[in-house]
Amino acid sequence: MKTLIDKLEREHILSKQELVALISNRNPELDQYLFAKAVAVRRKNFGNDIYIRGLIELTNFCKNDCFYCGIRKSNRNIERYRLTDEQVLACCQTGYELGFRTFVLQGGEDPYFTDDRICTMIGAIKSSYPDCALTLSLGEKSHASYQAYYQAGADRYLLRHETADETHYNKLHPGSMSFANRRQCLYDLKEIGFQVGCGIMVGSPYQAAECLAEDILFMHEFDPEMVGIGPFIPHHDTPFAEEPAGSLEMTMFMLGLVRLVLPNALLPSTTALGTIHPQGRELGIMAGANVVMPNLSPLEVRRKYLLYDNKICTEDEAVEGFHELQRKIDKIGYRIVVDRGDYKKTG
Ligand code: SAM
Repeated sequence: MKTLIDKLEREHILSKQELVALISNRNPELDQYLFAKAVAVRRKNFGNDIYIRGLIELTNFCKNDCFYCGIRKSNRNIERYRLTDEQVLACCQTGYELGFRTFVLQGGEDPYFTDDRICTMIGAIKSSYPDCALTLSLGEKSHASYQAYYQAGADRYLLRHETADETHYNKLHPGSMSFANRRQCLYDLKEIGFQVGCGIMVGSPYQAAECLAEDILFMHEFDPEMVGIGPFIPHHDTPFAEEPAGSLEMTMFMLGLVRLVLPNALLPSTTALGTIHPQGRELGIMAGANVVMPNLSPLEVRRKYLLYDNKICTEDEAVEGFHELQRKIDKIGYRIVVDRGDYKKTG
């Protein structure tokens, strides 16, 4: 198996069969072999720098009904909220003072936020913080909507593909949602000029090693600037409430593999990883990740943006949560930098 990791490092891709073999045979020794290579690649391209993105959870209203997600339309047990432009700008202000130079506006697919409202918000953020990058993560929209957001000044867009296997996709989503449309959105975003992020949940229900292999093949073909990889974690008010969470080990293994496939990618060590293990975010960095996305949302809405159970950082003020994370990252020998952290095609 180690020879397959050597080949992946050299050629940045393997056949589906080889990927399935690697994923099905992962073990602690292979993990260490992979992580050493992934960390070396990351170090060569980024040194010890860790980029930060300030996450602002804009709305927990959603018209979709994804089977895994705590803010799905059918969940009647959550209190819904929307942030105002003023609240969003106040989050940016706090973040800017802490050294954030990228803000991420994430939310459910909420029809209240029309393109006009979103573009006005983009304009307000970009004119107040012209030296900052703005990332959107607002779900599936039309080509024209994405184009309008880009023209209004948004720089990047995160839209996890969730799974590259259509049969698997259909087991995670209701019939009203389509694999083909999600794919089309990703290609539209890229064609418009956004820096684009795709991604998956590791250990989502019905996910086989073949699905993860397909995910890697898709990432290689799509060549995104960012890849979001976190474990699936059940939420008690969803159809997947009784399903087991994805593992720390497989999530780290996927981060390591993706680092070898896409050496320059911006790869977050996710909040979900920090939720399944107390040192999850540090361990993600030690597997090849180079981005963290601390939460800047107002404290009073944190508990309402519960995608999964036991989500961390729902009780901390942005400032104290950030300082704690900074200490943890310092401790493992990395440093958080004040930088937009744009994608660079080198090395
Ligand atoms: N609505 C936008 C979209 O669909 O891309 C952005 C918000 S959505 C809640 C962001 C991501 O949360 C999804 O892409 C999904 O991978 C992740 N997510 C949702 N439920 C989750 C769960 N139970 N465990 C882990 N991640 C989850």
